[in-house]
Amino acid sequence: MLTNKVAIVTGAGRGIGRAIALGMAEAGANVAVVYAGNVAAANETVQMIENLGRKAIAYKCDVSSFEETKSTIDQILVDFGGADILVNNAGIVKDGLMLSMSQENFDAVIATNLKGVFNTTRHLYSHFMKKRAGRIINISSVSGLMGNFGQANYSAAKAGVIGLTKTVARELAGRNVTCNAIAPGFIETDMTAALSDKVTEAAVTQIPLKRMGKAEDIANLAVFLASDNASYITGEIIKVDGGLYI
Ligand code: NAP
Repeated sequence: MLTNKVAIVTGAGRGIGRAIALGMAEAGANVAVVYAGNVAAANETVQMIENLGRKAIAYKCDVSSFEETKSTIDQILVDFGGADILVNNAGIVKDGLMLSMSQENFDAVIATNLKGVFNTTRHLYSHFMKKRAGRIINISSVSGLMGNFGQANYSAAKAGVIGLTKTVARELAGRNVTCNAIAPGFIETDMTAALSDKVTEAAVTQIPLKRMGKAEDIANLAVFLASDNASYITGEIIKVDGGLYI
């Protein structure tokens, strides 16, 4: 489905990002693996992609930095000779009740989860416009749709991603570039492993399918959205949440 396409996946060292990077590679794409600091995990993702017979390079880049993101995207375009797919997956949590949330924790989550999406997309914009082709897939969250206890920063950032997605979809539609968002529910990764058993059990009882999702559940949709089969879908926010927010 994606033979010889080039996919840039942020936060591809671990979790959902790794599953998306592998899904893209299995479908035939070469992958730029963007990570923040866990070089061992990023190198492992690269190795797994190479084992599938595809090209992969790891790039250390803090997506919250406008300048760092620019130099990384420019380098990726040189190394891969262009790009076809951007997956904005990098994200962090710094949960806490609004009553006591520090401005540092608010700013940090907005900087990575929302401004990070702006930075990468902004630096690839003219490339996709000139090419008259491109797929942008943003990883939002059901928290951005329904809000979530203790996640004012995270929910605000993920809701912001939805507004950005719809705007970019409108702006780039005339250039044959689509932009969609995936809103995962409760997915098994390091991010959710940090939660206590009690919190996890309580969350699962709220899910109609009565289980957490897997990173591959998100990857399957991302690969579809990147493929020709999804060429008439843009500006959509698609939930993958086991029915959590019906
Ligand atoms: P994860 O296992 O914690 O992995 C996060 C990834 O993001 C890591 O690869 C990390 O890089 C990278 N990252 C963090 N900050 C970064 C920065 N400033 N610049 C570049 N990369 C950065 O998280 P996950 O659960 O896979 O989540 C992936 C995405 O899905 C996030 O946007 C998250 O908000 C969203 N999501 C997750 C869930 C869930 O239940 N897990 C639900 C809804 C939405 P390093 O490996 O180098 O640290």
